[in-house]
Amino acid sequence: MATFSIENFGCRATEADAAALRRELLAGGLTQSGEHASADVVVLNTCTVTAAADSQAREAVRKIYRVNPGARIVVTGCYAQRAPEELAAIQGVAWVVGNSHQAEIPGIVRGFASRPGTADFVPAAALDDDPMSLARGAAKILTGDIFAQSTVQIAPATLMAGDRTRPILKIQDGCNNRCSYCVIPFVRGSSRSLPPDEVIAEVRALMGAGAKEIVLSGINLGSYGRDLAPRAALGEVVRRILDETGLDQLRFSSIEPQDVTEDFVALVASSGRLARHFHIPLQSGSDRILRAMHRWYRSGHYAERVNLVRRLLPDAAIGADVIVGFPGETDADFRATVEFIERLPFTYLHVFSFSERPGTAAASLGYGVPLQTIREGARALRDLAQRKSDAFRAAQAGRAVRALTLARGGDNWTEALTGNYLKVRIPGSHPANEWHEVVM
Ligand code: SF4
Repeated sequence: MATFSIENFGCRATEADAAALRRELLAGGLTQSGEHASADVVVLNTCTVTAAADSQAREAVRKIYRVNPGARIVVTGCYAQRAPEELAAIQGVAWVVGNSHQAEIPGIVRGFASRPGTADFVPAAALDDDPMSLARGAAKILTGDIFAQSTVQIAPATLMAGDRTRPILKIQDGCNNRCSYCVIPFVRGSSRSLPPDEVIAEVRALMGAGAKEIVLSGINLGSYGRDLAPRAALGEVVRRILDETGLDQLRFSSIEPQDVTEDFVALVASSGRLARHFHIPLQSGSDRILRAMHRWYRSGHYAERVNLVRRLLPDAAIGADVIVGFPGETDADFRATVEFIERLPFTYLHVFSFSERPGTAAASLGYGVPLQTIREGARALRDLAQRKSDAFRAAQAGRAVRALTLARGGDNWTEALTGNYLKVRIPGSHPANEWHEVVM
């Protein structure tokens, strides 16, 4: 029986894609190998959000080819969609399949079988250089117009051993915004949503498989439902999940500031089954830079949304993404970002160094910020973020909250996650996916 391994790079949306691929390959009769070194087929689901993500994927291919030269390496995901030739040129790559054709991968893998319908593979090394064969020689490329995608690919909802304790349900994909630094719309296509009835069905199926918390995810989650006829909205489908399922807890991946409406925050405040956790990408605290980023808000609007969350949810986690070193960013812009973050009740930050992405508007701006300046800025923001999360955790002292155990722990303790996104240690060794009352 042929084996496969799969590795995912990048965000929750790609993690959901990798989960979908894995289930299709298992359903196709392959068995999953825990390591690339012994797999017949290795699938890499790549990210291209930064230059670092690209080089990580290239390095992964080289490493796999070194330890397992007989494997068929199939590279897919956002990097494969953006620059298939770059990946196809790396030794050991058999196929490069863009996001546009990811659903074809199980069929391609079945095609590796020496006898149709079987999962018996001839090791790549044994194949001759026949260009028609799937052997060594030039990698095959299968990509197409990502904007031709009209549906959301989702993972059949089954929880497998080793799966996340808190499964991700991707209900939206793609993005219609055009932030000047962002390559995502060009590799994931236009915004598209999973119809509400299917969302409810997926939630029920994941609950049936044992899920107690589900993370609702998308590339631009807040734009959920705008492409559907009849039009829907994130708040609506969340209300249906609360009304039509018994799910213990629903958490949201990041939501753009303009979609953090009073109605939506009030909905979260109205139910103990919605995690007190908002992740709202900021990117910069300087209006001059926000304008150059083609972001849909200015610092004042953003502050209103964060303060709205804090007012209606005094103990909520509030996190943000911030980019350091956007082209043309001056010391004054950076100071504006630091002072802005200091003024607002953030509880954690994800700090990114600007990475020029081919094909984006920002790539042709010039005025690059020196690397050393970016590094120092990123360090300063991470220190600020640490102070903010320490202060938030300290402010929780004495509060009784419930936490869901995760599949991590040590000698006589188990890690768990609270609704407001704090990791806690519970005494004793407990299985994952159990609720515990804890006093912070
Ligand atoms: S909202 Fe902006 S940053 Fe986010 S995926 Fe869309 S274009 Fe990229």
